[in-house]
Order: sequence, then structure tokens, then C-alpha cells
Amino acid sequence: MNLLDLMKQGPVLGDGGYLIELERRGYVDSGSRREKVGTGRGSGQFTPEVAIENPDALRELHREFLRAGSQALQALTFFGTREKLNRAGYGAQTETINAAAVKLAKEVAGDRALVAGSVSRTQLVEREGMESLGKARDHIAEQIRLLKDAGVDFLVLETFFHLAEMKAALECAAASGLPTVATMSFRPLITSCTDGHSPAECARVMADLGAIAVGANCEQGPAVMLPLLQQMRNAAKVPVAAQPSAFRTTAECQSFTRLAQFPDDLETIQLSRTEFVDFGRRARTEGIGYIGGCCGCNAAYIRAIADGLE
Ligand SMILES: [Zn+2]
Repeated sequence: MNLLDLMKQGPVLGDGGYLIELERRGYVDSGSRREKVGTGRGSGQFTPEVAIENPDALRELHREFLRAGSQALQALTFFGTREKLNRAGYGAQTETINAAAVKLAKEVAGDRALVAGSVSRTQLVEREGMESLGKARDHIAEQIRLLKDAGVDFLVLETFFHLAEMKAALECAAASGLPTVATMSFRPLITSCTDGHSPAECARVMADLGAIAVGANCEQGPAVMLPLLQQMRNAAKVPVAAQPSAFRTTAECQSFTRLAQFPDDLETIQLSRTEFVDFGRRARTEGIGYIGGCCGCNAAYIRAIADGLE
């Protein structure tokens, strides 16, 4: 069954955040020993080479999400454009990493879950400004080609800060013909994205460019994210997609990657899984068609959402 048909039956349960969980388990480099991570200027590592260096660790986390009830597993291809991998020292392995990540996810999913290719921003726009948008588009187009060749069922475009870069990514996704879920990340506040568009505007634009579900991921927990999702729901004619993080933010800073606790002190702002039970309970009435977790969500959080959905 494809994602669109699955969503017609009710909210589709995705999975949780891979990179933070695998960083906690010792398989992903946060970059924090070398640089200040989370500045929004494109620093920070959190790249997906674990797919080729420690495949068993990634395989195990996929299994845990599947066991928790995930109907769709995301291949760990987040930050897997050649641009980001180049700066992490893995550019030459761009093809290998993307192919390996999809293969692992498909192996675990079998016929029990769909497999998505995850595509995020390049970080070029943060570092070099809007003039680099063309280059960013080329890198994203390349990664989408790799994911399509590897056989993903659909794409999740996620953690984009600029709507302009999301638009470029959605055009590349449309050219691939793959169904696409599109989620922006809002920081430091949920009122607008980095290039100044409201959640409602982002939702309309993403739906117009062909996304089958539009919403937000990362940066804030479910309760903080909900008002922005409601604005998106009211503005777009497609289901909402939501992948909140499991971290407590403040009224002044509604994004955990901008807090001093990121990335080495996140345990002190961890939200409990009970907030995710409640989020799952509300999903249907809030028009959420695709629901999962982002950073800080291990399998316990996905089980909590599953409990709420029941
Ligand atoms: Zn995240």
C-alpha cells in the first residue's frame, strides 16, 4: 500500500529521531568537541556515516521503531547530501552511504512498513546566503536521484529552515515522481521560518508544490508545536505531518538546538513520553495524517504515540 492510501485509513505512524539516539549510543559524532554546534551557520556534524561504519547499530534502531508500531521507517539519509558529507569528510562515500542506509531500512521493513528517504537542507544557504540556492538545489537533486535509485517508497523533506530551499527541494522531489511529505523547522520561535514566512504560508506553498502532507519537525515538543500545526492545517488542503522533538524549550527560545543544552546537556531538558501519548490522542481531531517523533524520540516515544492513537 502506498502512503496516500495508508493516510486515508487514519494517521500513519512514522518513527523517531535517529541521529541523537545513535549519538547517545556512541555511533554518531555530534561535532561538539571541535566546534560550537547549533549556531545556524551550518556548523555541527550529525552525519549518517553510521550506515556504512556501524550498520548493526542502525539496523537495531530500525527494528526497535518497527516493533514500537512504525508503519514507515525513514532511511538514515538525513544530512546525506554531498555538500554536508564533504564537510564531514565523507563526500566521496555519498553514493555508498545513501544506498546502504536505504538498503538497511528496506531489509528491516520487509513488507511490514514503507521506507522513506530523508532529505534535509544542505546548510549552504545558512553559510553562504540565498546566492547559493542553485548549488543547494543541485545537491538535493543528486541525493533524491540516489534515494529513488535505491528504491524508497516516498520522500520526507525535513528540517528546512528556509522556505526558499524547501521550494527548490520540492521541485526536485516532483521531478522524481515520488510521493513527498514536507516539514519545515521553526526557530527560534514558531511564528515564522528563517526567511520570514508564517507557518500558514509555508503550508500553502508546500501543498501547492505537490507535497501530500505538510507540517513541521524537530526543534519543539508536541505541546509547543501544536499551535503552529493548527495554523498549517487551516491553511493547507492536505493532511498535516508532525514530528516533534522530545525537548523542553522556553518562551524566548522555542527551539532546542538554540539552547545552551544542545548537544551535550540534552538529558536535562528531556520531555517525558506522556506528552506524546496526549499528542497521539489528539492527532485525528487535529488533522494529522503523518505522525512521528524527531530528535530525542527513541522507541518508547513512538510506542507512546501509538498508545495515544489507539
Ligand atoms: Zn530533530
